[in-house]
Amino acid sequence: MAVRAEILKNIRSVDPYVPGEQPQEKVVKLNTNENPYPPSPGVQEALDSLDPADFRLYPDPSSSVLVKALAENYGVNEDQVFVGVGSDDVLSLCFLTFFNSEKPILFPDITYSFYKVWAELYRIPYECPELDKDFRIVGADYYRENGGIIFPNPNAPTAIYEELDFIEDILEHNRDSIVIVDEAYIDFAGRSAIELIGKYDNLIVTQTFSKARSMAGMRIGYAVSNPDLIRCLNDVKYSFNSYTMSRAALACGAAAVKDVEYLEETVRKIKETRERTKKELAQLGFEFTDSKANFLFARHPRYDAGKLFEELKEAHIYVRHWNDEKIRDYLRITIGTDEEMDVLFDYLRKRVC
Ligand SMILES: *Cc1c(COP(=O)(O)O)cnc(C)c1O
Repeated sequence: MAVRAEILKNIRSVDPYVPGEQPQEKVVKLNTNENPYPPSPGVQEALDSLDPADFRLYPDPSSSVLVKALAENYGVNEDQVFVGVGSDDVLSLCFLTFFNSEKPILFPDITYSFYKVWAELYRIPYECPELDKDFRIVGADYYRENGGIIFPNPNAPTAIYEELDFIEDILEHNRDSIVIVDEAYIDFAGRSAIELIGKYDNLIVTQTFSKARSMAGMRIGYAVSNPDLIRCLNDVKYSFNSYTMSRAALACGAAAVKDVEYLEETVRKIKETRERTKKELAQLGFEFTDSKANFLFARHPRYDAGKLFEELKEAHIYVRHWNDEKIRDYLRITIGTDEEMDVLFDYLRKRVC
């Protein structure tokens, strides 16, 4: 029985975010920017130390073991850290908490497509300044009245990293707006804007365990900011769901943060493979932005990206492609292990030469 229009008219309806595919069969999976390496061995130990008997109890609502580990790692106070179920959860709460003026918030026209979905979901007006012809964010486009600003650094899917002077310039021109820098890929890139939070009371930096820390499946993200803004986020969280982080996520997350060496080693391997991938793809005639992330944003002047995407998929090599007019010539290719990249190069060598 179809639900009647009288009922439907008062239901919130949204165009949801479309995540990359998670195929059940074994493929070379270069489509959702996951890390090809396992998480720190400390995560296994943390899992082994869990006692299912404790699962009858709610977890610590303040997530203090994880907050403490993160605060120590970044040299900030515990009241400057907020944790959530992946940075998607943290970012969505940020939209709800901080973007409440009637003015439009600003984010780039080509960026993480979830921003638009949250703006629509929460009915926040928004405007999307265009990237320039080289896919760079134009700082001056953010020198206008707004209800807040958000962008990733490095940006996705362009993979371009902007230095901290660029971030500071945007902050200087927007002293009365909240500026959120989504640093999902920062460990592969350069300096984090976390070092600016003491200087700007309007800055929020978010990061995730999903990419460099190899824990997309555990769903952990966090925000670092000043204590006042973190308190506001916690107030909203406690008005929504007090127990967002499971006992497993808290234990595994804290263990992962403490293993700094392992993170550095994994990041080093991925960056090496990234630079090798740039060389290989350049030899095959591909063009791409100067990626500072764990993926490349690449096009081939002679081959249709949409077709290539479908063919690769048939060959069990998954990459990402969007039918959006401005980027439909491009493929987003996650950096996997060297062996996985070799499978891609072998296929492309036969296909495009
Ligand atoms: C992957 C990603 C996120 C979200 O990651 P979570 O898995 O929810 O932590 C947020 N922003 C950008 C730009 C991303 O690429």
